[in-house]
Amino acid sequence: DPSVLKDTTAVVTGASSGIGAAVAEALAAEGASVALLARRRDRLNGLAEAINARDGGRAEVYEADVTDPDAVRAAVDAAAGRGGDSNGIDILVNNAGSGTWGPALGAELDDWHATVDVNVGGVLNATHAALPHLARAADAAPRGVADLVTVSSLAGRRVPGPDSNVYAATKHAVGAFSEALRQELAERHVRVGVVEPGIVVTELTTAGRPHAPDATRPTGYGLLQPEDVAAAVVFMVTRPRHVALNEMLVRPTEQT
Ligand code: NDP
Repeated sequence: DPSVLKDTTAVVTGASSGIGAAVAEALAAEGASVALLARRRDRLNGLAEAINARDGGRAEVYEADVTDPDAVRAAVDAAAGRGGDSNGIDILVNNAGSGTWGPALGAELDDWHATVDVNVGGVLNATHAALPHLARAADAAPRGVADLVTVSSLAGRRVPGPDSNVYAATKHAVGAFSEALRQELAERHVRVGVVEPGIVVTELTTAGRPHAPDATRPTGYGLLQPEDVAAAVVFMVTRPRHVALNEMLVRPTEQT
């Protein structure tokens, strides 16, 4: 049903490429008005044009760095006042993320902090800004529920290897944060969930970053595509309002 998210407003961080762009497209295809947040305005503009060109598609661009709390709050507040029924924000997808991989001995401390700033700090900034809007939307008929989804990682469930030290730490952190918020917000009808992808073909895994998961080598059935993760997010936020799907671990079939 292409109108299942009709009259909802969704904010997607890191919507300029990869998983976030696919999530924004998929939510828009279900009828959500989507607020696209990231730093690369040209990419966001391209995606917004594509969504707005579709029947019923609605997208707005918010250029912001998730590590800048004021910029994130301004974007989230603006998104809450637009689109849908202006009852707040129905869905926040914390997707923006980055990473540094490699041995701890000899690593640059600045790289560690940069990863924490985006993967944890960015989630805190967007979540803090969106929570009042989510709580407000959750009380509104007819949906009666709001969704806070964070794109964690397989690395948020286990430590996939020694070189994933800080990346795994950040993803475990957002998992713990999400579980605590889930407990706090259950009775407020704000569902809190994490999606934990295995290896996905995106810029993160194809740019040749040293020690990063490498999605450039051919495999039998192929690795996950951003659309595969977007489908999980859409499934999560389209459950009936009495169902909270709090965690989804999605691997490529052949990933060990
Ligand atoms: P991409 O590099 O394609 O996308 C990352 C997105 O995050 C971009 O839109 C980027 O936008 C945004 N971003 C990064 N830093 C910032 C920042 N400081 N402020 C605002 N936006 C920022 O990679 P993916 O799509 O793979 O990554 C998306 C999420 O998925 C991440 O959280 C990642 O950890 C997670 N993930 C990815 C996996 C994979 O195998 N690819 C596996 C498991 C989880 P811009 O640069 O324009 O700001």
